[in-house]
Amino acid sequence: MFNKQYVMKINKIDNSRLNKIDPNDSPFGANISDHMLICDYENGKWGEPVIMPYGSMNYSPALMALHYGQAIFEGMKAYKDKNNEVFLFRPEKNFERFNESAKRLAMPQVPKEIFIDGLYALIDLDRDWIPTKPGISLYIRPVMFASEEMFSARISNKYTFAIMTSPAGNYYDKPLKIKIEDYYTRAVDGGVGFTKCAGNYGASFYPTFLANKEGFDQVIWTDSKNHAYFEESGTMNVMVRIGNTIFTPPTSTTILSGITRDSLINLAKYHNLDVKEERISVDNIVNAYQEGNLKEIFGCGTAVVISRYSHLGYKDTLMELPQLPDEESYAVFLKKQLVGIQTNEIDDPFGWRY
Ligand code: PMP
Repeated sequence: MFNKQYVMKINKIDNSRLNKIDPNDSPFGANISDHMLICDYENGKWGEPVIMPYGSMNYSPALMALHYGQAIFEGMKAYKDKNNEVFLFRPEKNFERFNESAKRLAMPQVPKEIFIDGLYALIDLDRDWIPTKPGISLYIRPVMFASEEMFSARISNKYTFAIMTSPAGNYYDKPLKIKIEDYYTRAVDGGVGFTKCAGNYGASFYPTFLANKEGFDQVIWTDSKNHAYFEESGTMNVMVRIGNTIFTPPTSTTILSGITRDSLINLAKYHNLDVKEERISVDNIVNAYQEGNLKEIFGCGTAVVISRYSHLGYKDTLMELPQLPDEESYAVFLKKQLVGIQTNEIDDPFGWRY
């Protein structure tokens, strides 16, 4: 399985924590599975990847990742079907996106033999942590951070790559009330919005906190120049159905290229739904709402798959979105198709299931 260059060492735990934790009843990301994969980079090369018991590591507060933010991560899931077979969904996409983030943050590329083969070995070892209840799965968190300890503001010479996993209940389960953000900005042209760098998330918390105080669950990020176009929604990509067409903004340096987004576009096309990758202006949304053509808005991402929205706040106006019955909702249809493929309930004509 492993390239000879990277021999994998496995140190197993003595006693699993599974006697204390029920993976089928565990809040999202709260309980981390028994093992983690760790691999260190220094002197221009990766060392030996090691799978070891999950636990703390010994770093000082001079850790460069904490000061200068060279820290990136990924989010993906492992699923179990009725026969206890384990599946990953398009893991190569996460691997590619991770290395795109690494490039933009001037961090080293992680070899496939460490990322993908390490992932397989780790999931296999902790397969009992994968929930079996429908709708929940095992969340997988690859991460890399600058691990040199010193004060100079420069590219770090040392990095740690890690993979951890955790049982994942669904993130949001009710239709959400969303605010169209017209002041704060998540990403700018030429910036890092298309990466999963830690700072993107840290910087989004305050505007989200303010929106929460106003009674909204999340924000829709708009473009940094005029706040006139939809970009993303919280930590999800955004899709809007006007009439019978689904619109989603094209990816750019300000938008994360979501794997759920890409999968839903492909699924929609496969099922002959009209889907367009076009910029969505706030004006168009307001007009479509007033004309009664705004049918659905939903966010999409690995953690939640699809999250439907019930209200849209823009400046002083609150738009109440129609709540279509499930059989008329594209969001419900597409979610069913996607989850069906992920959990081996329906055929996978795209070869996405591993
Ligand atoms: N946008 C942002 C900012 C995100 O953090 C995520 C979650 N990774 C997404 C979109 C959705 O991406 P994916 O479908 O690959 O999970």
